[in-house]
Amino acid sequence: MDLLEYQGKQFFAQFGIPVSDGRPVTTVDEAVAAAEAVGYPVVVKAQVHAGGRGKAGGVKLANNADEVREHAGNILGLDISGHITRILWIEIASDISEEYYVSFTLDRSAKKHLGMLSKEGGVEIEQVAVENPDAIAKIWIDPVDGLTEAVCREWVLAANLNPSVTDGAVALLLKLYTAYTDGDADLAEINPLIVKTDGKVHALDAKVSLDDNADFRHPEWAEYRATEELDSREQLARTHGLQYIGLDGTVGIIANGAGLAMSTLDVVNQVGGTAANFLDIGGGANADVMAAALEVINFDEKVTSIFINIFGGITRGEEVAKGIVEALSRVTLKAPIVIRLDGTNAEEGRKILADAGIPESTLISKPTMLEAAHAAVALSKGK
Ligand code: GDP
Ligand code: MN
Repeated sequence: MDLLEYQGKQFFAQFGIPVSDGRPVTTVDEAVAAAEAVGYPVVVKAQVHAGGRGKAGGVKLANNADEVREHAGNILGLDISGHITRILWIEIASDISEEYYVSFTLDRSAKKHLGMLSKEGGVEIEQVAVENPDAIAKIWIDPVDGLTEAVCREWVLAANLNPSVTDGAVALLLKLYTAYTDGDADLAEINPLIVKTDGKVHALDAKVSLDDNADFRHPEWAEYRATEELDSREQLARTHGLQYIGLDGTVGIIANGAGLAMSTLDVVNQVGGTAANFLDIGGGANADVMAAALEVINFDEKVTSIFINIFGGITRGEEVAKGIVEALSRVTLKAPIVIRLDGTNAEEGRKILADAGIPESTLISKPTMLEAAHAAVALSKGK
């Protein structure tokens, strides 16, 4: 789950990272009241799930109530990369002497956390990454070792930050690493990380993405969920408690187990198709879950064929089959199904499907994953 900037700052503040005082608001009048409360000058900032707000006119300084009124009026409703601004964050303006960049994220191929730090932060960081990659100091942190103060200090020195802020930067980066790991984030980025004119190191922006798998231990995340932007397919999937991620392709995918679901996306791509989604119905899925999964896939306008890939372990073939029969009695599918059913009770499952008298135009069965992928992709292209 991606957080809005102000939520990211609330998240950072819990770990002792310095952020500016501010208020989230949704109207021009509230924006003025917030500015009066925090004190001028303030910055009026669009809160959307997108970067590049500064360049899009979504970040403005205001010295008095009239300026707040003007900027808040312009920014509310502003479209930033397809995201309409409905929330503003009004914060005390900072006097900046330097703008740095820092982030922690997971480098899956290295099986380590990746920290990136640069003295060339600010709104042009993407350009820096392309044109001057050496200006970004990288470290890979073994999660077992964590980030020690000594390693953090070396990293700060490697980034050539202003030497006068070394101690302040080290202290902040250690807190950011703790926020990222103990806070269950997938990404914690500050751009710009500023040095104020008084020499203090401070987070001026916040980009945080939380690991949804840790949701169960964070009841406080409910507040962040309230402003989360899900597409309508993802909302429907969530009401059914399904592990679903919407994609842009045309082959709807249902598989049991995250690994098999990802392999299914790969094999669909390999044979020239495109996946409409990731959907893992999990181990031990019953008929109800399969029926719900088909409902969600069927809701997706772009889907032109459905590939059900089940390798039964705890999941039993006859439950999968019953779910499909059940779903077909509940909803009229807009796309044909290709199923590969293997593993526990696959024979029983295939018999249930055969006995149900489902026409070939609605469902065909293939013995292997690759054959099923070929068939599903051909159908998705109207062949
Ligand atoms: P982004 O464009 O979406 O990344 O939004 P940021 O929060 O990073 O703001 C963009 C830029 O606005 C920053 O890089 C700063 O240069 C500027 N800015 C933001 N807040 C302040 C502030 O309090 N004081 C000053 N002087 N500039 C600010
Ligand atoms: Mn920024």
